[in-house]
Amino acid sequence: MRYTGPVCRQCRREGTKLFLKGTKCFTEKCPVERRPYAPGQHGQNAGRRRKVSEYAKQLREKQKIKRIYGLTERQFRNTFEKVSTLPGITGHNLLAALESRLDNMVYRMGFAATRRAARQLIRHRHIEVNGKTVDVPSFAVEPGQPVRMRQGSRELTTVLAALEHATRGQSPSWLAVDKDTFTGRMLERPTRQAIPIAAQEQLVVELYSK
Ligand code: SF4
Repeated sequence: MRYTGPVCRQCRREGTKLFLKGTKCFTEKCPVERRPYAPGQHGQNAGRRRKVSEYAKQLREKQKIKRIYGLTERQFRNTFEKVSTLPGITGHNLLAALESRLDNMVYRMGFAATRRAARQLIRHRHIEVNGKTVDVPSFAVEPGQPVRMRQGSRELTTVLAALEHATRGQSPSWLAVDKDTFTGRMLERPTRQAIPIAAQEQLVVELYSK
């Protein structure tokens, strides 16, 4: 089931900024900066608890990555199963597959302030891939395929505001974006180094390999 509660609580639970709220994440209003401890009654005492087990660390890292990309447990697990048979390093393949999702691409292109907002744009049929409308946020974009805002959707206030506030980290080197034509392309499959996510994906591999 997808989490529908306050997103900032997820960041505080993971103890790091997951950038789930668009521009607010870059201001001093960010709750992770104002209250840098876990949410809830015992949040401030969390650091004094007993030693954290390997399993707990793996679980937390999985939750963190899953939350960054806004996936349900089943979607995340399915993505892992798909990449686990591919050649190469499974953790890197996992992140590359998550980055290739259409919702992530629309976010990275700067047309939505968050991945959640990108999913909304896709479901409401504002996005085309290869000239055809795609309304499936998990659609796997291939290198070279043009991802574009539909002509009639380019004046949407949310899109214009997102474009104005798009940050450098949002648009990595493997992505080319033409803001005049509202089009972006994956130039090549992202390598681990080019994915701006601070996560230990190998812990997820260890967790799911048990
Ligand atoms: Fe996370 Fe952004 Fe909320 Fe800060 S403002 S806690 S980074 S979602």
